[in-house]
Amino acid sequence: MLLARGPEQEEVFARARQAREESFGATVVLRGVIEVTNVCRVNCDYCPMRRDNTRGNDRYFMSADEILERAVRIKDAGIDIILLQGGETPRELAAVEEAVPRIKELFGGRAEVLLNLGNMRKDQYARLREAGATSYILKHETSDPRLHRELRHESLDERLRCLRDLLDLGYKVGTGLISDLPGQSLDSVVDDIELAGELGVHMCSVSPFVPAPDTPLQLRLPGSVDLALNVLACLRISYPELLIPSVSALEKTSTGGQSRGLAAGANVMTVNFTGDSDRHRYLIYGKDRFVVKMQHVQELVRAAGLEVRGSVFLDDAVPAASR
Ligand code: SF4
Repeated sequence: MLLARGPEQEEVFARARQAREESFGATVVLRGVIEVTNVCRVNCDYCPMRRDNTRGNDRYFMSADEILERAVRIKDAGIDIILLQGGETPRELAAVEEAVPRIKELFGGRAEVLLNLGNMRKDQYARLREAGATSYILKHETSDPRLHRELRHESLDERLRCLRDLLDLGYKVGTGLISDLPGQSLDSVVDDIELAGELGVHMCSVSPFVPAPDTPLQLRLPGSVDLALNVLACLRISYPELLIPSVSALEKTSTGGQSRGLAAGANVMTVNFTGDSDRHRYLIYGKDRFVVKMQHVQELVRAAGLEVRGSVFLDDAVPAASR
């Protein structure tokens, strides 16, 4: 299935859409993301926010008040999932810990606070959970321990320890992989898919490798969007109840990529609510990254014959459109 192209690939996508329909109906979960800091202590070779990129990285940290101000805009847009995402740095932790309960209060408790802030100690995850965080994304990126060490300069075991701690603490947990990383085999991508199942996570994403400026991998060829879409479809067929986003990296690498993500079985889209000045400083794929706006998402979802809905992790979850 990973190598399928043409009519064969369409068949795989159709099976994936059927699996999505059976688990979630014709719906796509909408998230609003706030990028809380662009500072990171890690040095991933594929990421322009890496520690050593002092050239292009104009550092910022959002305060709790600034995070709240953006959360109000997410609420006004009718979205009930607030994703706080940032580089891995202890310096932003106090602001996030202060912001989380205030966000919950803003939404009258009816919000999913989703964090994506990297590796931490278990007691730090526990504090954020107590503050009101619902869910956490921590992508394993590659399940090949050698490649993980080579490209992230970090240990896969430590990443997996964090994922297990998060599950243990009752978080709804997301992992994710990058496909077509330089040096990655197809077998290792199969391992990535199987790892999502073995961990028992609730969400999994896949992004094609994007060679970003000011990184050691900037001259490598971009990853195949077809492979990423096939991984997405395989995840959906293998684990029908996973939340799987159609990520902006698909659009960055090929126009129309995000709509193909929905066609391949994705059921989550993320709208960017970072303020204009910070958004240009958050160098996830370099300065000319594709920034996802509300209108773009609404058009894609409608064109796919789907409708937007709110969090699936809130007890009284209802479609966003009917609120
Ligand atoms: S991918 Fe994440 S952990 Fe790695 S350098 Fe970038 S922000 Fe930091």
